[in-house]
Amino acid sequence: MNTVPQPAADVRIVLVGTSHPGNIGSAARAIRTMGLERLVLVAPERFPHPDAVAMAAGADDVLAAATIVGNLAEAVADCALVLGCTARSRRIQLEELSPRAGAARLLDAAGPGAPVALVFGRERTGLENHELQLCHAAVHIPANPDYSSLNLAAAVQVLAYELRVATLERAGLPTGGSDGHREAPASHAQLEGFFDQLGDTLEAIDFHKGRAPESALRKLRRIFLRCGLDEREVRLLRGVLADAQRMARLAGGHGDTR
Ligand code: SAH
Repeated sequence: MNTVPQPAADVRIVLVGTSHPGNIGSAARAIRTMGLERLVLVAPERFPHPDAVAMAAGADDVLAAATIVGNLAEAVADCALVLGCTARSRRIQLEELSPRAGAARLLDAAGPGAPVALVFGRERTGLENHELQLCHAAVHIPANPDYSSLNLAAAVQVLAYELRVATLERAGLPTGGSDGHREAPASHAQLEGFFDQLGDTLEAIDFHKGRAPESALRKLRRIFLRCGLDEREVRLLRGVLADAQRMARLAGGHGDTR
């Protein structure tokens, strides 16, 4: 069951004048993996085409539902917000957004009866000036300035991913990695319990050798407080100390015999 909210219905991915049908298929796959589904093709050079189906790799439902229109104005006529993706930075008169800011702007504007569009240009020449003028703002992926032009479907993937993450964050859902499963941070009392046991253990193994224990203990506290220990980590460290105390007792030293 999929309980993740989908930006799908309201966000439209528009590909303008695509020459390689394989890129259309790859773009369909890219958006499908990120929970999007609306693809609009503006005057594609070759479509439908078996290369598109091959590269879609199972996202053929997105291809089958794709609409084909003659020009960009037609593709975005009913849209509340239109963002144009461009590989060329700062050579245009439009406000320029990062992919993250662009995704946020799109989700803010999208809603029932208010579709929004993310527009991608031709493989060789990108979007023409008159097409960029139909956009409210431009989105630039901050790529290597010496080689900033991504493959069309790769650029679609980057933006679709940002839309996905923004959608998950807005729904308060984890965005992957360990963020979703963090152990509770150790409480003050748990840390103090650990520091007490650490002090006892240092005595038991005769760490101080006659020196006053305060200075070493202060430094050790600083090290452990800097780590931001969680509950499980404190349990592990206390396990280590318990064994050290046990070994000190066995060795007949000054082990804590409580
Ligand atoms: N030589 C073309 C590059 C086209 S790449 C040009 O200079 O515009 C095909 C499309 O992928 C571009 O029109 C754009 O929509 C998207 N794209 C590629 N690299 C991008 C980048 N760094 N930032 C934003 N969009 C990018």
